[in-house]
Amino acid sequence: MARYTGPSCRLCRREGEKLYLKGDRCYTDKCAVGKRSYAPGQHGTSRKKLSNYGLQLREKQKAKRFYGLLESQFRKYFEMADRKTGVTGENLLSILESRLDNTVFRMGFATSRKEARQLVTHGHFTINGKKVDIPSYLVSVGDVITVKEKSKASNKFKEIAEGSKGTAPQWLTVEAEKLEGKVVALPSRDDIDLPIAENLIVELYSK
Ligand code: SF4
Repeated sequence: MARYTGPSCRLCRREGEKLYLKGDRCYTDKCAVGKRSYAPGQHGTSRKKLSNYGLQLREKQKAKRFYGLLESQFRKYFEMADRKTGVTGENLLSILESRLDNTVFRMGFATSRKEARQLVTHGHFTINGKKVDIPSYLVSVGDVITVKEKSKASNKFKEIAEGSKGTAPQWLTVEAEKLEGKVVALPSRDDIDLPIAENLIVELYSK
């Protein structure tokens, strides 16, 4: 599946806020949002007041970028959310949050969603004992996600097992020393700490 391969910090500057796309660097004074708090490009310093449509568009772009998705993938998730019962915006965030790459990130096994995606595509994880290397795989309640036996010996995973921060959200239980996590519920809106006004995305796509 295609993905954005340009500079991550440019996306944050475009949105005017930190999207935390580069792991540990985002928490240092090297963060580009702190250093250059204007949009990239020739007209970046002249931010105009946004129209209603502009606000909706920016919110959608921000959500896409948080999860590292392109338009067609994001639209597909919206349609999936719209078909489900319940509040479409909340369904959308719950689906996005259930992606395997995000789940690995939330378990604390990667410093960013981008890194988590790479670890998944490199085949480091199993779900219920079977290798899964598809970042868009949507986890279900009861799924057990484990680092593959062979990968557990790598320095990266050894460090995680020894020094996990133990900050997984409520919908996951994580046993860092075993390099394993379990989905105990589907993520609800309250579990998702991202500053996204999902109602604006629904308004945009409902035009
Ligand atoms: Fe965004 Fe992180 Fe780059 Fe800062 S360092 S601009 S938060 S990706």
